[in-house]
Amino acid sequence: MTPTALSVDSEIQLITAGAPGATGSTCTPELAEGPWQFDLKPPSYGPGASMADPIPADAPRQGELPEEYKTASKAELDARIRAAKATLGDRVVVLGHFYQRDEVVQYADFVGDSFQLANAALTVPEAEAIVFCGVHFMAETADILARPQQAVILPNLAAGCSMADMADIDSVEEAWAELSAIYGTEPDASGRVPVIPVTYMNSSAALKGFCGQNGGIVCTSSNAATVLEWAFERGQRVLFFPDQHLGRNTAKAMGVPLERMPMWNPRKALGGNSEESLLDAQVILWHGFCSVHKRFTVAQIEKARASHPGVQVIVHPECPMPVVDAADAAGSTDFIVKAIAAAPAGSTFAIGTEINLVQRLANEYPQHTIFCLDDVICPCSTMYRIHPGYLAWVLESLVGVDGGPSVVQNRIVVDEAVAAPARVALERMLSARP
Ligand code: SF4
Repeated sequence: MTPTALSVDSEIQLITAGAPGATGSTCTPELAEGPWQFDLKPPSYGPGASMADPIPADAPRQGELPEEYKTASKAELDARIRAAKATLGDRVVVLGHFYQRDEVVQYADFVGDSFQLANAALTVPEAEAIVFCGVHFMAETADILARPQQAVILPNLAAGCSMADMADIDSVEEAWAELSAIYGTEPDASGRVPVIPVTYMNSSAALKGFCGQNGGIVCTSSNAATVLEWAFERGQRVLFFPDQHLGRNTAKAMGVPLERMPMWNPRKALGGNSEESLLDAQVILWHGFCSVHKRFTVAQIEKARASHPGVQVIVHPECPMPVVDAADAAGSTDFIVKAIAAAPAGSTFAIGTEINLVQRLANEYPQHTIFCLDDVICPCSTMYRIHPGYLAWVLESLVGVDGGPSVVQNRIVVDEAVAAPARVALERMLSARP
């Protein structure tokens, strides 16, 4: 089936073509507006999958983008971005997350998932500036791993992550204190401590630092099982945050019974659990989720199978457990990309992850039929906040306007008191690799 032509935004297209069977509808008409409209409104994640999630009061705000970047045509922005990049040369590297729109990804020197991109930044030590077209926690991770003299820039400070914001350092420290009161701090006869904190890469630097300071570790969606094995060798149980679904799906596949995975709701005493259930717990799951991946359902999988016999359904492990269980395979964005690349021509895939990646894969692999499980276009709200206008602004500021000095806009700096233990947790993850 030929992809249906769709255009969400006539000037800067958010989605360049629709998936087969797509209705063409979007989850909100606000997606057609320039993201700067939302910088000036009361704080929100913006339009898209996270628009109904409560945003923390202290979430970073983006100042007003200069008018010329809001009104420039697509062609003008393209010329200005390319000219600024050419002038800056090796002084700057642009990173683009898989979930960014193509109109941004086209300028990226590296494209990948959050950890691939943080590592990519390490390969360009000569770059003075790393422009991270992604979300806030990714820029923080890049700053933690980058050289001190390198400036990590997030083109729009409002590009956060609603899932990462669901676990804040104060709530996690409170949970840790409550759990310590129940478990104590003494190791068992095998030398395993009562509980190991494990944070998903999609978390603030403060939480990575917390893990580093408390014998814990970071995981990605690619290595979550390896990291949990590492943790179970050293601890009797795991406190996993912020994504309940990645934690549950991974631990379940490793044989942990569901009844030994209580959920921790930070708004309730003992996370909403009894002391008894916490004593029996093997994995305590933080009450966090990704609103992009929460949209996928078993009914969508059934519909895809009915309309495309032989379809392979691959979903991201941030999807709810019934969806992962019903799919043919589940894995990280890198897993999805590689599975499609390795498939014989003529394969059909229904994919459960962010629409910009799915649509890019559909365009890159015309020999396959590739479509998003969700036929309503609802991208990640915060990835959406990065637009070529912001990229042009940060790059031209680095060049210096009208012969003026180079200006670093939107630098993300992680205090060394947080970065040092966060680095420990990240290094533990690297050393835990099989
Ligand atoms: S897709 Fe989900 S986890 Fe990823 S940045 Fe968006 S809200 Fe966060």
